[in-house]
Amino acid sequence: MATKLFRMNRSTLVLCEDCLEELAPAPGKWDEDPLQDCSVCGATDEAAQEEMNNISDALQQHWEEDQPDPNENPQDYK
Ligand SMILES: [Zn+2]
Repeated sequence: MATKLFRMNRSTLVLCEDCLEELAPAPGKWDEDPLQDCSVCGATDEAAQEEMNNISDALQQHWEEDQPDPNENPQDYK
């Protein structure tokens, strides 16, 4: 099962599901934040991070495709 990461609201403290349970009841509001590492044991949600990497790769690729070829001068085609 994938590890779930939770970040404390308005804080940089991040706990995975296990640590959150271990320290419970942890005061404060905890939001699921799958791209963080657990501040206690360093657990990460590998599936979510991999997914995010794939998305940023795709965005990067798309961005590169949208860039004009620097060797191409559109005025040459007039
Ligand atoms: Zn942890």
